[in-house]
Amino acid sequence: MNDRKLNLVVDMYGCPNRCMHCWLGHMPNRKMEEGADLFIIRAFSPYFDQIAYYSWLREPDYCDDYRERWKRDIAVSKNTVPERFELASFYRIVRDEKYIPFLKEVGVSKVQLSFFGLKETQDRYVGRKGAFEEVMQATELLIREGITPRWQCFINEENRDDILKIYKIAKEIRQNRCPALEFFAHEGSCDGENRKLYPIRIRKSSIPDELKEVYLGYGSLLTERECIEKLKNDNSHPEFLIGNEITLNISNCYDVFYNFTHMTEPWKIGNLKTDNNEELIQRVITGDTNALNKAKLCKWTELAAKYGDPSSERAFSMDDYQLYLFNRYLES
Ligand code: SF4
Repeated sequence: MNDRKLNLVVDMYGCPNRCMHCWLGHMPNRKMEEGADLFIIRAFSPYFDQIAYYSWLREPDYCDDYRERWKRDIAVSKNTVPERFELASFYRIVRDEKYIPFLKEVGVSKVQLSFFGLKETQDRYVGRKGAFEEVMQATELLIREGITPRWQCFINEENRDDILKIYKIAKEIRQNRCPALEFFAHEGSCDGENRKLYPIRIRKSSIPDELKEVYLGYGSLLTERECIEKLKNDNSHPEFLIGNEITLNISNCYDVFYNFTHMTEPWKIGNLKTDNNEELIQRVITGDTNALNKAKLCKWTELAAKYGDPSSERAFSMDDYQLYLFNRYLES
């Protein structure tokens, strides 16, 4: 029995949105069959003493019976319980009057809402008409019920003026209705769908001065050129720590991934329906997987030289940039 805690995060219902920045990558929505939760738990139970089960990987509480589903997630977990995070479904907040009372009941006191721009831009980035009105309406409903909204903005070269305007709206709301409203902006990672936005990734010099005070990690933000400069003599291999708590993302067709980055073929650890269970779990525990084995075969200096653009002023945190380079290598 492994003494590490296991979190199983399963895409049982899908997501109403198709965000252009989605780090997980777009996957088809499919409701998993009855009993999928027990099948998955039973596969891991002989090997782990503590298992927290989450029936959502993309949109929390997207299924209609979210109240029963939450109880079931608790019931099927083993020697621990799943957590509620500062996340909720804005799709449901504006459609279901019983939803905010449920959030309060389960102890949610803050909810993060994502922005990509004003009306047209927000709708296009979320992939649904009305998405901008929905996050604004969700903000008002949360404030009215005493839950603090936290606005998260994804900035790039295309939407930076919109994000500035959204910051101004946030300041007005703080002044007039909700002093606690939180706000931050960032560039997002460069995997999943957001990788496709690399051509319009924000340049560090394009970040408006007014946003620097609310820009996540601005103090350690680098340009791509600076990242390459730091990596050019780095002879170490990419490393991904499995750690004392293992979190696995499981797709709606039972493919298993670590939660390090997007869920694509090179990162797949195995499939719970078709692979030998014991072998799959050994791979999970020891890190004997396709991606982690390939990591031992390359060095940062080589990845930076091969896949980096030394003339680029695009903004990155070093961690995100390294993952971007490694994903390019895996897919080459
Ligand atoms: S970012 Fe979240 S809400 Fe948007 S498509 Fe991905 S999982 Fe769905």
